[in-house]
Amino acid sequence: METIEKIRAAIRDVPDFPKPGILFKDLTPLMADGSLLRGAIGLFVDACRELRPDKIVGIEARGFIFGSAVATALGCGFVPIRKKGKLPWKTHGKAYALEYGQAEIEIHQDAVTEGARVVLIDDLLATGGTACAAIELLRETGADLLEVQFLVELDFLEGRIVLGDVPVRSFLHY
Ligand code: AMP
Repeated sequence: METIEKIRAAIRDVPDFPKPGILFKDLTPLMADGSLLRGAIGLFVDACRELRPDKIVGIEARGFIFGSAVATALGCGFVPIRKKGKLPWKTHGKAYALEYGQAEIEIHQDAVTEGARVVLIDDLLATGGTACAAIELLRETGADLLEVQFLVELDFLEGRIVLGDVPVRSFLHY
């Protein structure tokens, strides 16, 4: 079996989590397997290398797991986008709609300098609300956003449409 198919086979479907009607893609079995974790990170690394980023930006929390490993492999910096209230310095913030209610994410104002070449990484693209807010935060910093990358994309939710004209790459589609 090819690595990508082994990764797909290791992703566990959990029905009705965190609420009824959601089929949750649980990546923990894949992350617990050393060879599959390396394989998944390798997909991002190969895709990022050619883009020559200065920084990898990861979205809390699973975007940290993949993003920091990619940054380490490429020798570039890692920048966290976190849930509101977690970052200690001056921040840009962006509120966005969840299925029920609102959420807000933040980035440090000095984390990315104007014109810096960045790739944004998260584990999974669903409705696109989170990634869209992260893209808007990066626009406020003046970063040059090269691409947004996900391990998994839920195609039927059409999240990439709300991300506009930013290049989007996902390695596994459902
Ligand atoms: P969204 O803003 O709808 O694109 O949701 C994106 C975030 O929520 C990602 O960071 C995922 O970690 C998480 N998420 C949303 N839906 C799922 C799902 N069905 N399975 C696993 N994670 C999900």
